Amino acid sequence: MNFGVIHSSGHREGSLDFSLTDEQQQLRRSIRQFAESEIRPHVMEWDEASHFPSEILPQLADLGLLGVIFPEECGGAGLGYIEYAIAIEELSRVDGSVGIIVAAHNSLCTNHIFKCGTEAQREKYVVPLAQGKKLGCWSLTEPEAGSDAGGTRTTAVRKDGGWVLNGAKTFTTNGHYADVCVAMAVTDKSKGGHGISAFIIEKGTPGFRPGKKENKLGLRASDTSEVVFTDCFVPAENLLGQEGQGFVNSLQVLDGGRISIAALGLGMAQGAFEAATAYAKQRKQFGKTISEFQAIQFKLADMATEIDAARLLTYRAAWLADRKDSRYTLESSMAKLYAGEVGCRVASEAVQVFGGYGFIKDYPAEKFYRDVKLCTIGEGTSEIQRLVIARQLLGKK
Ligand SMILES: Cc1cc2nc3c(=O)[nH]c(=O)nc-3n(C[C@H](O)[C@H](O)[C@H](O)COP(=O)(O)OP(=O)(O)OC[C@H]3O[C@@H](n4cnc5c(N)ncnc54)[C@H](O)[C@@H]3O)c2cc1C
Repeated sequence: MNFGVIHSSGHREGSLDFSLTDEQQQLRRSIRQFAESEIRPHVMEWDEASHFPSEILPQLADLGLLGVIFPEECGGAGLGYIEYAIAIEELSRVDGSVGIIVAAHNSLCTNHIFKCGTEAQREKYVVPLAQGKKLGCWSLTEPEAGSDAGGTRTTAVRKDGGWVLNGAKTFTTNGHYADVCVAMAVTDKSKGGHGISAFIIEKGTPGFRPGKKENKLGLRASDTSEVVFTDCFVPAENLLGQEGQGFVNSLQVLDGGRISIAALGLGMAQGAFEAATAYAKQRKQFGKTISEFQAIQFKLADMATEIDAARLLTYRAAWLADRKDSRYTLESSMAKLYAGEVGCRVASEAVQVFGGYGFIKDYPAEKFYRDVKLCTIGEGTSEIQRLVIARQLLGKK
């Protein structure tokens, strides 16, 4: 995939080639095959039991999906964001829960340590995380600090060669199951957003525990939990990035994270669309398949068109992320906003195409409808994406 590079001479190289490479197409095929054979048969069972699918983590690791965007020397698959978007899209086409587990692990927890960590931190944490020997989570949100994450209240106070953390984080994906948590805490209240630092906390650290497990509308096989710090001592070497830069770095981490949520929404939209199309071709009313009614055809046409537009925005943001020579805040926010909202529209129309059967759990439409709603909320709501986009357009900080 190449959206074109313009050199200083004005020469345009490789302009607008939308095709995936042979390797990228092969990657898509192998993840699709894996998702169809290992995930699809369990989707409703996991959803209804809110079962976290720990049993497939070793297979995800073998496929390189727990370290997609990290170099091989760091234990990763050595691939880029395009491949990462393909992976999240394909997993989410079958089960968004698996998509979000992989996304929070890769682009939030591991990527924060990879981007901001010291060599020693990369060696100690990124390698086993990227190899899939450990699972990661990332805790920014608090009960009183959601969209306004700069309002973080969890504190970290310097003491005896380290920091003592107190407070609670909410809505942490993988919170109960993660071996490694990256959490943001206030180290200097007087500096606002520039007084928040990031810390790496290992499972089993005294004073650190997962709290309430949320009972959710959708993505029920993923874990969304509170994580609690009670006089939790974290050694100085586990400060991640510079003191006071944790929130600023989180915003950079979210640039990549939003590509995951765009791919999550895109994958679920694709899954819902395929299910609706197959159903429309076999469901008969008034002596015809419902796909022969123009009202249904127009729905399918709109769904396919919007999915394609969402895919182009998502892959453009991924392509920019791989270029590493500029920020891509605007493009990742646009992709996340649009793909999340398209996901919701497509899933809603899929329920409509299924009619009454769209409302019951024997058919796949209702689960996509429930699951995809997260994509307009997580990693910045649609309203916050519009604020981010407008700020970029208007040149405001
Ligand atoms: C399933 C799930 C998984 C999650 N995983 C993680 C995770 O792994 N790590 C993590 O840190 N967080 C995670 N989150 C938290 C998520 O990022 C937050 O829920 C989200 O940022 C919104 O915060 P909030 O829920 O407090 O809503 P609020 O901020 O209270 O927003 C409520 C409403 O007000 C609107 N609003 C708020 N401020 C403005 C404004 N300035 N202008 C216009 N409208 C505004 C919002 O758009 C929304 O509609 C997860 C959430 C869910 C549901």
